[in-house]
Amino acid sequence: MHYTGTIWRPPYEAGSLIIEATAGCTHRRCKFCTLYEDLPFKFRPSPLDDIEADLLEAQTWYHDPLRKAEERLFEREPAQVSRVFLAGANPFALKAARLRKIAELVRRSFPSCESIGCFARVTDVTAKTDEELRTLRAAGFDGLTLGIETGDDAALAFMDKGYGAQDIVTQCRRLDEAGIRYAFFYLAGISGRGRGLEGARATAAVCNQANPWLIGANMLTVYPTSALYREMQAGRWTEEAEVEKYEEIRELVAGLRIPVTFAMLGASNPVMLQGQLPRQREQLIDALTAIVADIGEERLRAYRTNLRHL
Ligand code: SF4
Repeated sequence: MHYTGTIWRPPYEAGSLIIEATAGCTHRRCKFCTLYEDLPFKFRPSPLDDIEADLLEAQTWYHDPLRKAEERLFEREPAQVSRVFLAGANPFALKAARLRKIAELVRRSFPSCESIGCFARVTDVTAKTDEELRTLRAAGFDGLTLGIETGDDAALAFMDKGYGAQDIVTQCRRLDEAGIRYAFFYLAGISGRGRGLEGARATAAVCNQANPWLIGANMLTVYPTSALYREMQAGRWTEEAEVEKYEEIRELVAGLRIPVTFAMLGASNPVMLQGQLPRQREQLIDALTAIVADIGEERLRAYRTNLRHL
């Protein structure tokens, strides 16, 4: 398989067939981000020949005679590909025609594939017309993961995300109209010390105007190679305490008014949590309160300090 560098995928894409469609990120300017720093280039679309070869290679695995024999012997359901996740920081930046071509290749190898997902930047949606979004939905694109990070305009600008809170709302409405579902990644701690609650309220306000099926919270971990680390060294930004990050998440959970799955599943979270809002709001809030009370700042900080890799 043509995999380049570390392959990142959301926890809920664990069962998807992962095919690399791009490597790197078109933006690569977010101050906290170190995800693609090991790549010698900023962004590279995968050649269609490589994508086709990877799909064929994956096909052999699903049609492997030994595997088929095992399925018969143990009366297991035959393994099928119902979803493909395109790897890369933001494959949705590719032109709509190329994405449709990739969808065609996927369908040719895996006719049972029901949907295709990938990470997308808000600006990738902006760059597509309504008609293109509709054709991409028809081609199978559904379930994008948008790393919105926050609805806090000051934090978005400081971190150089390249869009504002209103852009998130506007582009999500366009995805809604095209019938493309999406999940959000939220980054607790992005607002900086003393601004966590404010950032959470701004994020809740943005999320409440959109329809994510899931909000996945990650917790900011500042690595020494990041631009954010240099901002901290220069005294221009101060990291939130771990406890403040949890208070921020609790404020977000309290402020969400949409039906949504709220999850904290990635490695940046010392404790994994998941719940359905609004039904499990109180349980989530109680669990977040208990983490702060039972584990405390020192041990939470020790987890973060020892987190060598996300
Ligand atoms: S858009 Fe995502 S991958 Fe790209 S630099 Fe920002 S956080 Fe990193």
